[in-house]
This record gives sequence, C-alpha cells and structure tokens, in this order.
Amino acid sequence: MKKAKPPVKTGDVIEMEITGLSHDGAGVGKYQGFTIFVPQTVPDEKVRVRVQVVKKTYGKGEAIQVLKSHPSRTEPPCPIYHECGGCQIQHLQYPAQLEHKRQQVADHFERIGGMQVPVLPVLGMENPWRYRNKAQVPLGWEDGKVKAGFYAAGSHRIVDMEACLIQHEANDQAVRKVKELARELKIPIYDETKHQGCLRHVMVRTGFHTGELMIVLVTNGKKLPHRDKWVEALRKEFPALKSLIQNINSKRTNVVLGPENEVLWGRDVIYDRIGEVTFAISPHSFFQVNPVQTQVLYDQVARYAGLTGREVVIDAYCGIGTIALYLAQNAKRVYGVEIVPAAVRDAERNAKINGMDHVTFETGAAEEVLPRWYEEGIRPDVVVVDPPRKGCDRVLLDTLVSMQPERLVYVSCNSATLARDAKYLAECGYRVQEVQPVDMFPQTGHIENVAMFKLENYLK
Ligand code: SAH
Repeated sequence: MKKAKPPVKTGDVIEMEITGLSHDGAGVGKYQGFTIFVPQTVPDEKVRVRVQVVKKTYGKGEAIQVLKSHPSRTEPPCPIYHECGGCQIQHLQYPAQLEHKRQQVADHFERIGGMQVPVLPVLGMENPWRYRNKAQVPLGWEDGKVKAGFYAAGSHRIVDMEACLIQHEANDQAVRKVKELARELKIPIYDETKHQGCLRHVMVRTGFHTGELMIVLVTNGKKLPHRDKWVEALRKEFPALKSLIQNINSKRTNVVLGPENEVLWGRDVIYDRIGEVTFAISPHSFFQVNPVQTQVLYDQVARYAGLTGREVVIDAYCGIGTIALYLAQNAKRVYGVEIVPAAVRDAERNAKINGMDHVTFETGAAEEVLPRWYEEGIRPDVVVVDPPRKGCDRVLLDTLVSMQPERLVYVSCNSATLARDAKYLAECGYRVQEVQPVDMFPQTGHIENVAMFKLENYLK
C-alpha cells in the first residue's frame, strides 16, 4: 500500500490541538492524521505552529502562538529556557509535570506491556530546582569576550549563561568564577574549528551532603597558563574546594573529558553520601546527578527488596556500586556486575571505604556474567536490575528466571522498555506488583521508575 503524503511541508503555518506529551516532554498531536511534535506545549491546548521538519511518518514544529492555553501552563522562570533545550517542561506547573509523567508510565504498561498495573503517584521534590550536583559547561570566545554556557540548539555556537536554575548554586558560582578568571588571566579559549587554544570546558561537582567541591579545568594539551594563580584564586574564593583538577583532552572530539587527570591542588576525589554510605567521586565517575531523589529512589528499591540481613542479592548494571552498597547494609551477600571497568574499580574502592567485605563486583556484560554465576550455583533471593535505556538483554531475563529469586526489583529510566520486559517476565511467572515513579529530573521530560516483581507460586 502506498503511504499517504504528509499533509504539510516545511514552513507551513497550521493550527492544531495538542493531545499528549512525548517521552522527552514535547507536546504532540495530529494534523489531518499526521503526527506533529511541538515542544513547550501542553495537552489540550490549541496552538498555531510553524512546521520545521517533515519526515515520512511525523513532523516537528514550533509553537508561535497559543490559541487556547491550558490552566497548568506557567511562565518558565528561567530566562534562557527557550534557547537552551536542557529542560523541556518548565512551562508546566510542577504537579502537572508529575501527573503527566505518571500517566505516561501507565500508558506504556497498557500499550506495550498489555497490562494494567498500579502506577503510584510520582515521588516528586519539595523544591524541584537547583538539584543537580554536576555541571559541565563549554567555554567559547566571541566579540573579544569569554563565554561559558551551552550550545545553541542544533549548533556549536556557545550561548553565555549566568545561572542554571536546576544546578546547585555552588556549581553556578564556580562556573562564573572560572569564566571571570579566564578573562582576567587572558587564557586562550579553545576554538574547536581550528583545534587551537587551551581551556575547553569546566566541570564542577558538589557533594550534596558533605558540601565538598571539585573543579575540573579541561584543557587542550598539558599547558595551563598561570597555574599558580588559578590555584590561589579558586582556593580563596571557595573554602569548600577539596579537589582542583586539570583534565587533559587533546583530541578533536565532542567527548568532554580526556583520559588524563592532574591534581592541581587537594585530593583526586571528593566524597558524598547516600544515606549512611560514603562514595568517592572522581572526575570520570558516574554518580547520580540528583542526590536528594537518589536517596528516595534507593529507599524505594530497599523497600521492595524487603531485606532482613539474611538474603543473597544481585545488582545487575551496578555502575559504581551505589545500589549494591546501599542494600549491602542489610544483606548477607551482594554481587554486582557492570560493563565499564573504571566504574567497577570505583565500586570496589567504595566497598572498601565503607568496610563492606561481603560485596563482590565483577566486570562484564550482565548477560554473560549472570549465566556463569548461575552455573557456579549462585541463587539470589532478590535481584535488582538498573539497565540503560534499551532495557534488559533477553539472555539476562532468561537467566533471572532460571535463578528463581522470590523478588525482582527493576529500576528503569525508560518506561517503554520496562513495560516490554515486564510483558516477557509475566509470561515467565514474574508479575509486576507495583510501579513507583520517582522524579529524578524535575523540569525535564525524564522519569525514573522502580517496579517490583514477584514470582508467582514461589516455593523455597
Ligand atoms: N545502578 C547504577 C547505574 C545504572 S546506569 C546507579 O544507580 O548509579 C546503567 C549502567 O549499566 C551503566 O553503568 C552502564 O555502564 C551499565 N551497562 C550497560 N550495559 C551493560 C551490560 N550489558 N552489562 C552490564 N552493565 C551494563
């Protein structure tokens, strides 16, 4: 059958109703049966749209006028919201953000999973601003001025930014100071088109519970002019500074960090805590970016895991071992598996810091390591999985089913693949009891979920 031609072309101005939100928070609706995504709109709104992109099966447009606005619309507080693209739903009041996210998860279970499951109200933040503990900001040079901010949508032009409202205040202050010093000390700013200049990015991390600050200056090559002045000025300005690092990235690449770190002053890590567990964080470490909600998320994982201290637990896709160590506080034995070797090294170091010798980590693909563990006779009572967006590998799910744990806790950053995997698990006897969404990224379209599965007819 020949597909109908799209009813619009680029540049057309049309009027349409918004009927839903896409997974990344854009409004979406149909125009003469053709799907069009319109960022920064709200379901039930009527909008005038300029069509920007037309593909075979969908289009994308820009709202140029809201003809009928929804009561949950609000004025976005951030002055650069429209240009930046880092947040997608600041124009929605927070309770409406949470309800949209919950609805989306329930829809995925129904449409993709073919099941109706209790999706609880989203656990949101009391103050859904200034929650990020990590900033990563590119520097640029324009009209004789140093800029630090973000890339304008679809380009590598840097838009200057004085503040980011979802960023921890200390991170904003550090970025501003680095920008000021780069101006004062006349540091050559990196020009990516010529692959020349020195300072490329500034990365800042704040330990939310410890207050410790790490500043990383990413340079093209080993030379950093006025090294001593950087150290002196940043130490003076930030008493919380515990680690000042130069990261060397000499490649033509969009990857922010290069492989080499040199400590300019202080330690090579900062520390932070999740609950009672301490973590060392280096420039390269993956660490959850919303520390307040990470604890909410892990407490929910712990609740679903229902540990009494006697259980054997597996944490698959464990990253730097955060969930494994959190649960180890109340388990007999914990095994973690993760594919990135550096993350496993962090996990092992973190186990030592916390004096936990009943936790073992292994490097490898979960779908290869778990079958081996199964052959070795490891029989967990509880398995936690926290896979990347694409969800769990089929071999991994089959191995889980063979291991027959009583409970399975599935942490997911993508409810579509969670629902797909839930459908498969249901066919194997594991039923979703409940799904608890947690808002790890307020103002953005992302939502994290914890789903609890139980083995039906569990006998052990
Ligand atoms: N549980 C951790 C991190 C989860 S992110 C936390 O809460 O912080 C998902 C992790 O899965 C990443 O660290 C990624 O490197 C890892 N990963 C991706 N594919 C994998 C695979 N096939 N096997 C094991 N780990 C994998």
